Amino acid sequence: MTAQLIDGKLFAQQVRDEVAVNVAKRSAAGKPKPTLATVLVGDRVDSATYVSAKQKACAELGMGSISHQLPADISQAELEKLIKKLNKSKKVNGILVQLPLPSHLDEERVLQLVSIEKDVDGFSPINIGRLAQKGREPLFVPCTPYGCIYLLEKMGVQIEGANAVVLGRSNIVGMPAALLLVGKNATVTICHSRTKDLPSVIRNADILIAAIGKPEFLRGDWVKPGAAVVDVGINSKPDATKKSGYRLVGDVNFDEAKEVAGFITPVPGGVGPMTIAMLMRNTARAAEIQDP
Ligand code: NDP
Repeated sequence: MTAQLIDGKLFAQQVRDEVAVNVAKRSAAGKPKPTLATVLVGDRVDSATYVSAKQKACAELGMGSISHQLPADISQAELEKLIKKLNKSKKVNGILVQLPLPSHLDEERVLQLVSIEKDVDGFSPINIGRLAQKGREPLFVPCTPYGCIYLLEKMGVQIEGANAVVLGRSNIVGMPAALLLVGKNATVTICHSRTKDLPSVIRNADILIAAIGKPEFLRGDWVKPGAAVVDVGINSKPDATKKSGYRLVGDVNFDEAKEVAGFITPVPGGVGPMTIAMLMRNTARAAEIQDP
């Protein structure tokens, strides 16, 4: 292996420790715990797992969480009523609507309703718009891209002036990751399902962020020698040697890419833990903004 492994668990723990210290200081000053309201609609097992991991993290860092578990057939009006109630609640600092929502619900309308001061996922169009504008700052940076950039900076990867390729253009990962990289003066290429000759575009990348949701799609010989590779993908791959019958892999063929890259995140243990750590950081920040 030539690449340095980017230990997301370690960096996530550092962020969590910093948040816990700030939360403890607030408590010592007699302030209420920063509190995250989670909204889970339906019974998707993966979504329920993500939400419970976020609630567990809140408890571990001395923060509060309030769980709202709603039936899969909830109406748009009912869901919007809850979001409006959470926007007004003095007990709630951050609101997390676990995505994806069932298909009968209008995700965009729900995300737009979340008050900007409580949008700890950073998905509201106002936050993303601010991220895209020069000289403006979002109140909250979307957690997964925030985690990706944090890892690159902590590993000492030079972002300014680098050629960065972001594979994927979703609202929650690819697009905000590209905007963050531009903001840090990288030259950014965004690739998607219609990009022609992906390997040759990717071979130019000093920094590569892969977020497409296709197991081990990106091959080792597409990676520029010495590049920093951040693999956001979380995919399950059949594996008869595992009790569960599957194992998690990223969007990058790790075994191949680690022989060429300069830095690489593993899956699991790379970007995943950072996403939750950044959500905790954003929630603590929300409490600071609302009650300095
Ligand atoms: P989406 O499905 O919303 O977006 C996928 C993107 O990849 C789209 O822009 C799509 O292009 C592009 N794409 C799909 N297939 C190809 C292809 N063959 N070649 C080039 N581009 C392609 O996914 P998300 O952004 O929500 O998630 C991506 C991955 O990241 C998933 O594995 C997800 O589980 C994981 N994830 C991990 C998180 C973490 O904490 N580690 C958090 C969030 C997501 P187009 O726009 O043209 O359709």
